[in-house]
Amino acid sequence: MATREKLINNKNKFPSRLFPPAHSLPPTLSRIYNHQNIKTMYYHITPKSSNSKTGPIPVTTTSADSCPPSCPFSGGGCYAKSGKLAMHWKKVSAGARGGSLEEITSFIGSLPAGQLWRHNQAGDLPGEGESLDYRALRKIVQSNVGRRGFTYTHKHERRSNLKHIKAANDAGFTVNLSANSPAHADELADTGAGPVVCVLDQTITRNTTTPAGRKIVVCPATVRDDVTCSTCGLCARSSRSVIIGFPAHGTSKRKASEISNTF
Ligand code: SF4
Repeated sequence: MATREKLINNKNKFPSRLFPPAHSLPPTLSRIYNHQNIKTMYYHITPKSSNSKTGPIPVTTTSADSCPPSCPFSGGGCYAKSGKLAMHWKKVSAGARGGSLEEITSFIGSLPAGQLWRHNQAGDLPGEGESLDYRALRKIVQSNVGRRGFTYTHKHERRSNLKHIKAANDAGFTVNLSANSPAHADELADTGAGPVVCVLDQTITRNTTTPAGRKIVVCPATVRDDVTCSTCGLCARSSRSVIIGFPAHGTSKRKASEISNTF
């Protein structure tokens, strides 16, 4: 059965939590719910990343409960669920590392004008699962004014989220819509809510096109050693029309390729 059909048939059966549920955390870490009754997230800042793909730019991490269950990679294929990043993410998700939204917005607001930074090397926009805490997103957007923040989101299944994602893009905080395949990238591009990125089969290393003929540029950091996000910055351009393709990578690249080829 194709991945998309499986998703529809198993809508309520996702293994959506990698990490312990909130009730199993120590009492001092009990979670706070905001005015929208949305669980607040944990955030972590790395002021200067040592990741060879991003280069030395500030990056953040958001707790794993921000990831929507509709993301097919949550059940396998997510690059952030292996290696050092997985261990770091687990600590952030448990509240053992990192802090509050106010801490990251204050940090972002202190960055120099024009600074490129990546929100979420792991995790998604504020809000638990499919929900989008648009007020928290707005605070991030406001703190980014004058800087070049960018991120990616799978919170596009709930169509009411799209207007908030578009507002963020219009205000200069680039929120890329994450597609699961080139065909899915066409669907997301048609929403007009923001620029689009997509997962490609692990063997694709050259620029290609979507089924509807949109250009897909393979992320240069995945095929060249002399390019990082800090020197490229393509993902931070909200007005671009080209789709950025990421060949499946990491320890679960076979699973990610399978999703990209069947979605
Ligand atoms: S396209 Fe450029 S900015 Fe985007 S992930 Fe690749 S190297 Fe980074």
